[in-house]
Amino acid sequence: MRFVSTRGGSPPVTASQAIVNGLAPDGGLYVPERFPVLGKELFNPDLPYHEFAAGIIQPFFEDDPLYGRIPEICRTAFDFDVPLTWLTEKEAVLELFHGPTAAFKDFGARFLASVLEILQEEADEILTILVATSGDTGSAVASAFHLKKGIQVKVLFPKGRVSFRQEKQLTCWDGNIQSYSVEGNFDDCQRMVKEAFQDGVLAKKWKLSSANSINLGRLLPQMVYYIYGAAQYYKRRGVYPSFIIPSGNVGNSVGAYWSRESSAPVKIASLAVNENKTIPDYLKTGTYTPRDSVQTLANAMDVGNPSNMERLLYLFRDFDTFKKNVRAFSVSDDEIRKTIRSAYSRYSYILCPHTAAGEYVRDKFFAGEDTVVVSTAHPAKFEQVVEPEIGVHVTVPESLKEMLETESRFTGIKADFTELFNNGKL
Ligand SMILES: *Cc1c(COP(=O)(O)O)cnc(C)c1O
Repeated sequence: MRFVSTRGGSPPVTASQAIVNGLAPDGGLYVPERFPVLGKELFNPDLPYHEFAAGIIQPFFEDDPLYGRIPEICRTAFDFDVPLTWLTEKEAVLELFHGPTAAFKDFGARFLASVLEILQEEADEILTILVATSGDTGSAVASAFHLKKGIQVKVLFPKGRVSFRQEKQLTCWDGNIQSYSVEGNFDDCQRMVKEAFQDGVLAKKWKLSSANSINLGRLLPQMVYYIYGAAQYYKRRGVYPSFIIPSGNVGNSVGAYWSRESSAPVKIASLAVNENKTIPDYLKTGTYTPRDSVQTLANAMDVGNPSNMERLLYLFRDFDTFKKNVRAFSVSDDEIRKTIRSAYSRYSYILCPHTAAGEYVRDKFFAGEDTVVVSTAHPAKFEQVVEPEIGVHVTVPESLKEMLETESRFTGIKADFTELFNNGKL
């Protein structure tokens, strides 16, 4: 199994090479040269999640030195629950927030960290991971890589644009993790990472990789829970559901599309985005116009230039094909608030703002259908948004509590990537 660049100018590589490289040498993103055909026997809802995951991921590592170690990697990475919760007879929520940092980013980050730690076992040079975060990626990556040998992590977050608890989670680390509060927005952070990669001098001195969802190692595990969720749903209802996916950089959605391309029974009803409408506007006009992001209540989706669009545009090569396969609706902050209130009063179920965007799309366009809204974060991460709407305290998960009680530690910098490397400590 080999992976090629979306831009067509890099040699095909195996999965672990693609993961170490992060970005392909031509600046493109790695995608499977061909999708495997996943056998039905893999979709067994009674398997423990980590075994289920190994079955799905292993074909993507065929001919790769890590092939035989995928079961062990999955056992280390996926040591938490992935429950499907039913709001009505047909309407379920796939809760992806039971990992250590309470957002779905734990899946990708923990898998990537386990893979890279093994690959670094024999390396003599330290690997530096750069990661830009709009909130949840950075903490998932920091938590996953904390104290992993042979690896250091630099986390870039936009100053003043993440929630109080998100910031605590980003800055509670020591050892091999360094956090930077950047004077700029998320797109600036993302640009700085890209520029660092493209800088020739830096590339010679530092062994760099990325833990953003441009990294293949983040995406492969993000295919698994759709298939697992579909299998759980089928077990109960005898039909397969359609998924609604709260989206920003669309890495989570690419996971869903890739699982479908690999013959898994994953149907995708729609992406739900916030006021950052780059994708809905593209669907309307046929012209793709990335732009600056605007701030919303669903801050982890505040992305104006979604990095994984390059993979979606590669998969659905022309506008007509894209339009046949992708639907996306924009949800306003008021609609998010309203949905948090209504879900609580109808089902006594508490949604985070991102999941609420998905639930709004279900209510408006797919009510009463066999659907699963993907729940991307625990509501306790966004208590400042959620609690005023529902008037009750949201219980904080244990792992989150610990992070909130640890002292913060970070460096403030301008939106210039060279500042990341100037304090010279390594
Ligand atoms: C990252 C994130 C998203 C968006 O996921 P993408 O893969 O960037 O589309 C949605 N919700 C939450 C809570 C997130 O952390």
